[in-house]
Amino acid sequence: MPVKKKAVVNRWIDFSPIDGPGNRTVIFFQGCNLNCSYCHNPETIEIYEDDKVPESLYLLTVDELIEKIEHNFSYISGITVSGGEPLLQVDFLKELFSRTKEFGLTNFIDTSGTVPFSRQKELLALTDGVMIDFKAGNNSDFLKVTGSDKLEIIKENIILLDDLGLLHEIRTVIAKGLIDYKKNTAEIAGFIAEIDPEIKFKMIGYRDHGVENGEDIREPTEEEMNKLVKLANSKGCNNIQIIG
Ligand code: SF4
Repeated sequence: MPVKKKAVVNRWIDFSPIDGPGNRTVIFFQGCNLNCSYCHNPETIEIYEDDKVPESLYLLTVDELIEKIEHNFSYISGITVSGGEPLLQVDFLKELFSRTKEFGLTNFIDTSGTVPFSRQKELLALTDGVMIDFKAGNNSDFLKVTGSDKLEIIKENIILLDDLGLLHEIRTVIAKGLIDYKKNTAEIAGFIAEIDPEIKFKMIGYRDHGVENGEDIREPTEEEMNKLVKLANSKGCNNIQIIG
């Protein structure tokens, strides 16, 4: 008998109205390939081997995870996998998504976009939508925010997901003091508008709750956020939403 795949899960939320369409159960997977300065879930970054998972986390097979969240299934439209970076445990996701499909649920992915979707055809066939982060508009600022040089992968993923009709939204956190947020917003908006001006572009105002390394980062004001909307509009984006 094949050995069942296990994933390291940090936690889950039974019902969320903000992590994709409708009411959804959100599963936060443990482990991330980035180290963002403004991470709100720093406890999800560390990657653990199966035999070293702390007691505060969960090492689960798909059957065990389904057992823990199945009581929600009559009340939700589907599940959203988040993290951390859920795509670091992709084999588990494929098995999980095929099981949730059997329950008539939809599957959404909340990702940093730094794992290439072009190699994940099987997973995409089971996926109904992707929310993808766009943390900076150029390589040097992306490196400053995330410690990673994977911006090009995000751009390729966005183009692919848009082509496949699976791009639910693009999100960027607006944080002052870290990078030139106006320049980056203009760059990101320009990139989005060139692909499709109607892509949903969600701008999330940075809030310092739960951030461990945010000493030099500041929250934008409502007025500054409104100005950014005008800037993104002027670059051609038509579908902008402000959060926070
Ligand atoms: S990608 Fe998300 S979870 Fe990972 S470090 Fe960045 S903000 Fe945190």
